[in-house]
Amino acid sequence: MTKMNVKKGDRVKVLAGKDKGAEGVVLAAYPQKQRVTVEKVNVVKKHLRPTQANPSGGISEMEAPIHVSNVSVICPSCKAPTRINVRREDGKKVRVCNKCGKDLD
Ligand SMILES: [Zn+2]
Repeated sequence: MTKMNVKKGDRVKVLAGKDKGAEGVVLAAYPQKQRVTVEKVNVVKKHLRPTQANPSGGISEMEAPIHVSNVSVICPSCKAPTRINVRREDGKKVRVCNKCGKDLD
C-alpha cells in the first residue's frame, strides 16, 4: 500500500483539473484510492430523489474526490505549496517541509 503525504485537515493547493489554483482544506483522505476530497473543490451537483426525510428532493452539492497527485500541501510556515520530506522519529513518520524544514505534523 502506498502511503499518501496528504492528510485530513491539511491545507492544499489544486494543481490540475477544473479547480486548478484553488486552495482548501482536505475533508477526507482515501489512501487506498490515492484520492482526497478538498473543501469547495471539484464540487458536483447531486440530484436527490424525494425521500421521507427530504420530501421535495432537489439538488445538493458535494465535493467529489480528486487524485492526490493533483494537489500540493501548503506549508503553514511558508504559506506556499511545498514538497514534503518524511523523517522518522521514535518509529513514527513525521512530515517535514522541503523548503523551511519545519514539521507539518
Ligand atoms: Zn515550509
